[in-house]
Amino acid sequence: MTETVFVAGAGLSGAVIARELAEAGHRVEVYEARDHVAGNCYTARDEETGVMLHHYGPHIFHTGDTQVWDYVNRFTRFHSYRHRVWTTVGGKVYPMPVTLATINQFFGQALTPAQARAFVADRAVSIPEPANFEEQALAMIGRELYEAFFRGYTEKQWGRSPRDLPASILKRLPLRFSYEDSYFNHPFQGMPEDGYTPMVAAMLDHPGITVHLSTPLDPAQVPSGAQLFWSGPLDAYFGMKLGRLGYRTLDFEHLRGQGDFQGCPVMNYGDVDTPWTRITEHKHFAPWESHEATLVSREYSRLAADGDTPYYPIRLVDEKALLSDYVRAAEALSGVTFVGRLGTYRYLDMDVCIREALDAAAAFLEAREKGGSM
Ligand code: UDP
Repeated sequence: MTETVFVAGAGLSGAVIARELAEAGHRVEVYEARDHVAGNCYTARDEETGVMLHHYGPHIFHTGDTQVWDYVNRFTRFHSYRHRVWTTVGGKVYPMPVTLATINQFFGQALTPAQARAFVADRAVSIPEPANFEEQALAMIGRELYEAFFRGYTEKQWGRSPRDLPASILKRLPLRFSYEDSYFNHPFQGMPEDGYTPMVAAMLDHPGITVHLSTPLDPAQVPSGAQLFWSGPLDAYFGMKLGRLGYRTLDFEHLRGQGDFQGCPVMNYGDVDTPWTRITEHKHFAPWESHEATLVSREYSRLAADGDTPYYPIRLVDEKALLSDYVRAAEALSGVTFVGRLGTYRYLDMDVCIREALDAAAAFLEAREKGGSM
């Protein structure tokens, strides 16, 4: 039976769910507080330089999930793109993540993979069960590499001592004893030809979907008995009644000029006395385009205040306790499913958002087939 389903948020999670349900014959009303679709992966061409701007910071699509890769390729053409990152530390430039090149360059050595493995193991601090970011780093790479490449950057990015941060953040980055310098290990990586906005717009382009831009959804507006998928902040659904979940937000300082500013898409800055965490030179994300002009963005991280765009869920101990209270409140609801980075308050990559959105849509359709609710 056809029904009207409500979706809060026109980012990746909301768009995928809307598409799946519309294709299954339902009507979908998507409400988006901002004046554009695509959430934080929104891209737009900069009028002055003609360069495609990653408006909310660099987004690189990478996945090991064949179904997710096939899915995104239905909606846009992806160009092959391998992400590589460099980092400036103490006035020198090194490959990031830490590879054999980083190790050899940093220690002024010419070690083979096996020698480098032994060399790093020798420097690693023995910590049987690393309980936080710093311990995880010391156990993995030792003090010198940690201090140079992770401590300063992480303090700037998270505004906290790495001792207060979960070890899981560091586990996002590989450590390689080879010269493979791709930032991600995933087999599928790419950049959409015209940025992410047309891809998300194509997902939402279905006769069964109506998108209301600049229209935040008040959960009280949803008719009782109707299903709601909520990809906005989890605490905002409840009007913050239990307290605020902490986020880091980002400020960007855009600079325009001619030629090649830094020779790569992303340059990290590991030293604490450089106030930005990284600089993105957007045209390097689209090497198939040719631009004489260039646009670079210095990125600064700070604690999100009221009205700021949330980017990174902090998930410190305080937030975890509050999070469990919200999760309990969410579980007590029926007819509401929380999805995406904000809705589940997790540091999710784009491919994981899509995977989970596909699963949430499938679970809803299956429940309806059985005549139940969610
Ligand atoms: N990180 C670091 N130095 C770097 C790059 C990353 O210390 O040069 C740490 C930092 O704490 C960061 C985490 O590793 O938050 C994960 O990095 P990733 O590149 O996944 O962050 P994102 O691109 O999502 O901001």
